Amino acid sequence: MIKPSYNKVTDEIIEYLKDICGDNYVISDRDSMESYTHDELSPVEVKGEYPEVVVKPNSTEQISRIMNFADENKIPVTPMGGKTGLAGGMIPVYGGIGLSLERLNEKIEVDEDNLMVEVDAGVTMNDLYEAVEKKGLTIPIHPTTGDSQVGGTIAANAGGESTLKHGVMRDYVKGLEVVLPNGEILKLGGKLLKNNTGYSLMHLLIGSEGTLAIFTKAILRLYPSSEESKFIIVPFESGQSAIKTVSEMIKKGIMPVGIEYLERETIIRGQQKVNENWPCDIGEATLMIFVSGKNEDEILDKAQEIMQICQQRGAVDAFLAFKSKEIDKILKIRAGIAEVIQEGNVTGHRSGDLVVPPSKIAEMIDRARTIFFESNLEGIFYAFGHAGDGNVHIEGKLPDEGIIDWKEVKEVRDKWIQEAINLGGDITGEHGIGLIKKAELRKSKSEEEMRLMEGIKNLFDPNNIMNPGKIVPRDDEVEDKYIKI
Ligand SMILES: Cc1cc2nc3c(=O)[nH]c(=O)nc-3n(C[C@H](O)[C@H](O)[C@H](O)COP(=O)(O)OP(=O)(O)OC[C@H]3O[C@@H](n4cnc5c(N)ncnc54)[C@H](O)[C@@H]3O)c2cc1C
Repeated sequence: MIKPSYNKVTDEIIEYLKDICGDNYVISDRDSMESYTHDELSPVEVKGEYPEVVVKPNSTEQISRIMNFADENKIPVTPMGGKTGLAGGMIPVYGGIGLSLERLNEKIEVDEDNLMVEVDAGVTMNDLYEAVEKKGLTIPIHPTTGDSQVGGTIAANAGGESTLKHGVMRDYVKGLEVVLPNGEILKLGGKLLKNNTGYSLMHLLIGSEGTLAIFTKAILRLYPSSEESKFIIVPFESGQSAIKTVSEMIKKGIMPVGIEYLERETIIRGQQKVNENWPCDIGEATLMIFVSGKNEDEILDKAQEIMQICQQRGAVDAFLAFKSKEIDKILKIRAGIAEVIQEGNVTGHRSGDLVVPPSKIAEMIDRARTIFFESNLEGIFYAFGHAGDGNVHIEGKLPDEGIIDWKEVKEVRDKWIQEAINLGGDITGEHGIGLIKKAELRKSKSEEEMRLMEGIKNLFDPNNIMNPGKIVPRDDEVEDKYIKI
């Protein structure tokens, strides 16, 4: 691909942007821009990059003017939400304008008649949950850290531990207001539960990681918050029996909110990280099962049914976490595990997010473990996460010191990816392609699919100014520079 050439952001352009957003909302000194250089992706994986200027518009009209100007002047624009992504999606690899949505965060309008909420894209998920819960309503998925923004969460089509029962962000989006790269404003969908009018551009844009349009508002579906959730912690004598129990539950039509898989070693590291104790210290692998119901009795009934299946499949104990103090402790350790894995040298988040059909998880983990231990890499093998929906995070934690053979790391990762594809899976279940999985995307999709994707990008963004260097088109320079291993 020919290297795209962009114009630089001059002092004159900065003054023009200040006219649009106001003097205080355009920043260009390096120190103040540091937090706009990277997301939560481990810095070991990919280093951040400075935009030439950060703008913080607070209306759709301002965003439209900025985009129109950038398109006419061939200046790249990278949308930036809560910067909690794990694929480097908001890293401005070509500099240009970092367009932060943080000030587009006022409107949260709950429509109790239609059970919908109309919300500005820069509102954080935590603020959204709080506002709808005040009305006795909920969006049943909690897909991210909560610091992520509505727009970023839709752009990433995030899903989380409750995907098994409640789906992913796409399932809740009913309408979008977007600004196209040329500044045109579009309203897609609406407060409609059914709508078959033409191609769904809205669904095409959901999950497009800021490469086709900027989301400025969303209409999301709400549900009455009549259910509460509790946990069952079930240790098993082996990982195989734990993971096979997941398939057994799904086959029997038992649908907990979510099922997380944790191995002994992983739990120990999480405990150490946050200095808390896991409820039980037996079993090689543990299932953390989220059960919901209208009240404790209903949850208890469901829990008993689940525990019976677990017992038949090799569970060595079961622990009900019903008190909020216990639940908090467990969640703290679970978060500690994620933190441990983000620190230091790892085989890479690039493959940590593989997804396979739920019935193939045990096979995937076994094959990945064998590949890791057959390599010459030293380290700890981690498999943890969303077992219920086939999105177990697989990661090799490498020594913090000493020489690491990154070529071999890549070989291990490539083999993991190939195994996932062989098992009918794919390369990312939730974190997206962003900057770091561009090369793998081409392994996963056929030439025809890639041609269609590149055609769509070209149709929306003929000047390639919208978050360039991500997903498509192919860009060898960016891939060589940022995808080191
Ligand atoms: C501790 C932790 C736990 C996490 N858990 C999960 C999980 O369980 N499931 C999961 O799916 N993800 C998870 N994530 C990843 C992350 O939280 C999600 O990807 C999140 O949705 C990103 O939202 P954000 O606002 O932070 O977006 P950013 O990181 O700022 O951006 C993400 C992408 O969206 C684009 N973008 C941002 N805002 C807009 C907009 N308004 N319009 C168009 N494009 C936009 C950006 O350009 C970028 O490509 C986790 C992250 C962390 C740090």
